[in-house]
Amino acid sequence: MKRLFYAVLAIAMLFALTGCEQKTEETVFAMDTVMQLQLWGRDREAGIREVTKILQEQENIWSATRDTSVLSRLNRGENVEPDSSQQLLLEKVQKLSQRTAGAFDPCLWEVIRAWGFYDENYRIPSQEELKNALAQSRWELGAALKGYVGSLCVTALEQLEVDRAILNLGGNIQTYGEKEGGSPWSIGIQNPNGGDYVGTVAVTGTMAVVTSGDYQRFFESEGVRYHHILDPDTGMPANSGLSSVTIICKDGLTADALSTALFVMGLEEATEFWRASSDFEAVFITTEGHIYATEGALLSGCEYEVIER
Ligand code: AMP
Ligand code: MG
Repeated sequence: MKRLFYAVLAIAMLFALTGCEQKTEETVFAMDTVMQLQLWGRDREAGIREVTKILQEQENIWSATRDTSVLSRLNRGENVEPDSSQQLLLEKVQKLSQRTAGAFDPCLWEVIRAWGFYDENYRIPSQEELKNALAQSRWELGAALKGYVGSLCVTALEQLEVDRAILNLGGNIQTYGEKEGGSPWSIGIQNPNGGDYVGTVAVTGTMAVVTSGDYQRFFESEGVRYHHILDPDTGMPANSGLSSVTIICKDGLTADALSTALFVMGLEEATEFWRASSDFEAVFITTEGHIYATEGALLSGCEYEVIER
């Protein structure tokens, strides 16, 4: 008995010394991508269940490919009334579209379909097809949904007694709570050319760190790369000189929509957009591999140019 007591005491002291909090990890496939969930503290199992439920529920509502989703029914012109939270999301994405002068466009479904980006049946549509597709305004929230869902998960975790979490929702990182010991979370920025991270950004507390990149979904034909971030003016993959844009922002939906929009804008326009805003920081990687970060983005581990206000 005494021996057992000392063994338990030793383990407890080890945890106290190393700060080794208990952690639960889970990998979930949802929204067409792999999601990795890491939770620390109490209520971890309940937290995983709640997050998984939210991912599935939101996919059921907003998937553009599921016939029964609210979004598909709206796209078919059916008489469907979104509930108040659904209506609010539709209003918010429209506002983000206005805020970015249409660079983020939540109604590109027909254009995305024309390229085969939704089912990986890739093809190059003719200019005529793209013109027709652009003229049909049908909802698709692939550029914003994961960020929105990240914020929903945070609200759910706050209601439980989960202490902290990192949710990697297919490359959209959502941190929740303070890291143990109070040091910042360190989030890697992917190298667009493959391999390891180019550097890391430090964020404190609950934050969304969302990256849009030309390497995330693409196909090649006759030596040309066609990626999935489309210029709403032309329907073509945005050829803005950027390979990736990372947005650091309190609100997941805003982070996600802006990562896509600023990719479309290109470095110069995106810089002006950031200067006129106060709710986010950004890291840009150009197609030539040059890295730029706005002055509030705490980037380290690489050489980069600071963008000042
Ligand atoms: P993200 O990875 O967040 O940049 O989102 C890219 C996805 O959003 C694409 O796979 C399309 O489904 C959709 N999309 C592509 N271009 C745009 C755009 N300019 N505005 C809004 N959604 C877009
Ligand atoms: Mg996005």
